[in-house]
Amino acid sequence: MRTASPTDLMERIVSLTKRRGFVYPGSDIYGGLAGTWDYGPLGALMKKNIKDEWWKDMVQLRDDMVGLDAAVMMNPKAWEASGHVDSFADPLIECKICHQRFRADKSDEIAAHEATHKGKKVAWTEPRQFNLLVEAYLGVIEGEKQKIFLRGEITNGVSVNFKNVVDSTRIKIPFGIAQIGKAFRNEITPSNFTFRSREFEQMETQFYIKPEKAEAKKWYEYWKQNRMEWYTSLGIKKINLRFYDHAPLERAHYAQDACDLEYHSPFGWAEFMGIHHRGDWDLRRHQEFSGRDLTYKDETTGESFLPWDIETSAGVDRSLLFFLIDAYQEDENRTVLKLHPKLAPYQAAVFPLLGNKPLLIEKAREIYHELKKDFMVAWDDRGNVGKRYYSQDEIGTPYCITVDFDTLEGAKRPKDTATVRDRDTMKQENVAVAELADWLKTKLR
Ligand code: ATP
Repeated sequence: MRTASPTDLMERIVSLTKRRGFVYPGSDIYGGLAGTWDYGPLGALMKKNIKDEWWKDMVQLRDDMVGLDAAVMMNPKAWEASGHVDSFADPLIECKICHQRFRADKSDEIAAHEATHKGKKVAWTEPRQFNLLVEAYLGVIEGEKQKIFLRGEITNGVSVNFKNVVDSTRIKIPFGIAQIGKAFRNEITPSNFTFRSREFEQMETQFYIKPEKAEAKKWYEYWKQNRMEWYTSLGIKKINLRFYDHAPLERAHYAQDACDLEYHSPFGWAEFMGIHHRGDWDLRRHQEFSGRDLTYKDETTGESFLPWDIETSAGVDRSLLFFLIDAYQEDENRTVLKLHPKLAPYQAAVFPLLGNKPLLIEKAREIYHELKKDFMVAWDDRGNVGKRYYSQDEIGTPYCITVDFDTLEGAKRPKDTATVRDRDTMKQENVAVAELADWLKTKLR
């Protein structure tokens, strides 16, 4: 196995993802738009798989969580209430030589920039607060348009619907609301591929509990462990994960306690999800600004209170990037993405041994169409089988199914069996054609 330097590794991953259709620079044919990325056919599949797995784990398999899909555009008062209009800001400094701006709290980015001015002493301006909310304007009449904000985080749509959810379901505290959706930030320095983008997606849970310290501690620890286990169960190596606990001054304006789950990336330890004890910040502020009663009534004790919220907030794009980096390997003769089969864009590929034998093609197409009813399956009949394996390994397809003459007639193997080659062990096994779908299902459990 070759080990690339961190910069080489990132370059190789960026190049592979573009070449194979995972991620393209946004608006590429117009010279791009900084901080935006478009997911290609394979990236879109992998992103969907991550979100589906997350939703299954958080909503489908739990009795104490419900889902929500709130609007991106909200009444601007919601952003005043949540504190984002006043406090959703990064400290910004400007290089006095070239006037580029950087976040004052990112010392590695500052040092990297200073190095570009070879040997010159770089002076910086004093830090200024820079609000990250992206503004948009709604309405048809020029001059009467209403300024709104594209959501800077997806939490607000959940907080303003807390009462709706309680009133329209039978859910009782402790319970959570899960949501996946786009967020937008006017990031000063979009960087490290998709890691820091201006448009990105989040997967969040707001978990509402009784406002008691012991409860908060219990659930905060519970979610830390739960999320760590989720990422490792999907293949991220534990050694590449750690928690970073925020000191009081580092915490966001809404947080009483906070930590980041970080990944050991080629560009250093980097956050890709956060766990925040938000207390009753959101509900209290929305209650105050909207004038609506948002308290929860506990039917057994008769008490009314504003619950506390323990949040888990993960980035879909950063998760995808780190799943890719963690899975990327170069062996002697191949590049392979050892992605968990549940996350790989295709769960299987089907090949006829030879691309010019109609009977083989017909049988392989039949299997391909049958499997497509339950799985994402790739088809390849170009070149030889070795090249096809190479191509599927590079995009992480865990199983390659080959239809050969034994499938049709049986000789060395029983008739109606196909060979299935495992991406990681590169070993082959024979599986009856009629059992292929069940066989794959078991592998994906
Ligand atoms: P950072 O310090 O890296 O800017 P943050 O602490 O502001 O991140 P949160 O507000 O806690 O991030 O957002 C929760 C998650 O949303 C992050 O862990 C990350 O996965 C994702 N996220 C936040 N900002 C971006 C971004 N600009 N691009 C991609 N993902 C992001």
